Amino acid sequence: RSKRDGGQQHCFYNEEMARLALSRIRLEADLRRGLNQDELTVYFQPKVDLVTGALVSLEALARWCHPRKGMIAPAEFIPVAEACHLIAELGEQVLRKACHQVQRWRLEGIYCGRVAVNVAAAQLRHNRLCASVAAALQESGLPPGCLCLEITETSLMQIDHQVLQELQTLRGWGVTLAIDDFGTGYSSLAYLKRLPITTLKLDKSFVDDLPSDDNSVAITRAVIGMARALGLRVVAEGVENAAQRDFLLEAGATQAQGYLWARPAPRPDFAAFAIHCRC
Ligand code: C2E
Ligand code: MG
Ligand code: MG
Ligand code: MG
Repeated sequence: RSKRDGGQQHCFYNEEMARLALSRIRLEADLRRGLNQDELTVYFQPKVDLVTGALVSLEALARWCHPRKGMIAPAEFIPVAEACHLIAELGEQVLRKACHQVQRWRLEGIYCGRVAVNVAAAQLRHNRLCASVAAALQESGLPPGCLCLEITETSLMQIDHQVLQELQTLRGWGVTLAIDDFGTGYSSLAYLKRLPITTLKLDKSFVDDLPSDDNSVAITRAVIGMARALGLRVVAEGVENAAQRDFLLEAGATQAQGYLWARPAPRPDFAAFAIHCRC
């Protein structure tokens, strides 16, 4: 490879990097404006009982309804929100909107189970999770027992004593806690036992390869066994076909979420489901 080629390549990378940096800066400014202009909206995806197919709860998922670009998925804006310190604000907006919406459905007579809201690591670090949850519940009127918080395994591994106490307080109010994307981090059994969690969400990456991939099968069985031993519920995420569902049922998972039943939507098709829940 000649010096000239290398030089050109170097130049290409600089331009590419500058272009990326600029689009990142624009997106950041855009997101800041979007959050102020109330462009954030929440979709809901049913979680179902694997045996009966009944709806047992919902997961709230952020969407950005951009005035020019249309609906933007989290993969595009969550990393930006994290990088530019807007993730806590975004998370609080989703929490408030999700609590309000589910309480409105309850007032319509639709008791759709708990609503699970994703919580980012930065929201834990700020040490005002209890305060923002209390505010969202109070403003909406949603009972604490109808709220679940989903925290990724990776962000749970970084928590300190103060955050642990906050989680214990929330659990004391009746809020349930789920570990999201379980299996992608490195938490130990001892660590899991220390946390006031109720649910493990088996990451989609394992579900994707069920039942043909031996490693995914082994990990799935291990997670279900471990959850049983610790008295936790398992929710399998990203179930798209009957073969995956049948394997999970046979392996002893109790709940799942995926396109096989419903995609995230502003208002799930409640009429299409039997609803089994306490909320
Ligand atoms: P997650 O919390 O693991 O959410 C599940 C994701 O899997 C959602 O993607 C959902 O639409 C998708 N999914 C569910 N079933 C299927 C399926 O059968 N097939 C496929 N291909 N996908 C399925 P979504 O809505 O794009 O969200 C992606 C991620 O963005 C979430 O993963 C979560 O980590 C993050 N996120 C979304 N909303 C929020 C939020 O309000 N706050 C924070 N901090 N993160 C959020
Ligand atoms: Mg989640
Ligand atoms: Mg997940
Ligand atoms: Mg996931």
